[in-house]
Amino acid sequence: AMELMNGKRGLIMGLANDKSIAWGIAKALAAQGAELAFSYQGEALLKRVQPLAAELGSDFVVPCDVGDPASLDALFAQIEERWGKLDFVVHAIGFSDKGELRGRYVDTSPANFRMSMDISVYSFTAVMQRAEKLMTEGGSALTLTYYGAEKVMPHYNVMGVAKAALEASVRYLAEDLGKDGIRVNAISAGTIKTLAASGIGDFRYIMKWNELNAPLRRTVTQEEVGKSALYLLSDLGSAVTGEVLHVDAGYHVVGMKAVDAPDV
Ligand code: NAD
Repeated sequence: AMELMNGKRGLIMGLANDKSIAWGIAKALAAQGAELAFSYQGEALLKRVQPLAAELGSDFVVPCDVGDPASLDALFAQIEERWGKLDFVVHAIGFSDKGELRGRYVDTSPANFRMSMDISVYSFTAVMQRAEKLMTEGGSALTLTYYGAEKVMPHYNVMGVAKAALEASVRYLAEDLGKDGIRVNAISAGTIKTLAASGIGDFRYIMKWNELNAPLRRTVTQEEVGKSALYLLSDLGSAVTGEVLHVDAGYHVVGMKAVDAPDV
């Protein structure tokens, strides 16, 4: 069998449960021979993350709150100690006060604006500052974004502003780290029912809208995001960096659907 990730060691950040996008990505990478480490936020998640990691043959499970620089330092110190190098990193982390993921963007509070930007945007840069030092033979990094960065989507609010900044940071990181053979990309995933997504107002309706209006007439799965992640993180994507790849059943190309229009 083809093993695209043989001999590659990587860190998966943002696994919360078996509905997480990080889980779809981890499975796709492990199936191609990757050796994985997992970071999780807070002790409460350990009992979910540990058995999932074990399912993929990993006992390398480390706590990390990306809002805390010391916690990031400790994570990367453990990776350096155990592996000495790193080939890839997946950043599947985002957060905003769910009280502000409904209603109007204009009502965003300064505290939640700063927190959303810190956890959902800056954390990727903070990760790359540390990963860069361990990617001594080049590397590949991936983050997750959403169409709400590009167009106004209901209730996405401050997360849309954060994802726009995250996508811009992908381009700046790609330029800074490209000289060292490190590629940096994002996947703009279609709507998937996860813990994070359930915090967004009217999420079920937004999913249904995507299903009715995407060119493929459906939503996407964690496994499908996983396959595209494999492409970007493996040698298949060797010339791709600074890219935002839409894995959304084509939803982003549609301006308006054809309907049986009334006479106007
Ligand atoms: P999820 O709830 O499974 O994952 C979100 C993860 O972020 C969790 O593991 C959580 O622990 C982690 N996290 C939050 N704050 C953190 C912190 N301070 N430190 C460390 N970790 C922290 O949900 P998901 O949908 O799989 O989300 C993964 C990524 O995919 C997010 O960036 C999300 O915005 C993005 N995304 C999701 C969708 C969707 O429809 N589900 C669509 C496009 C993009």
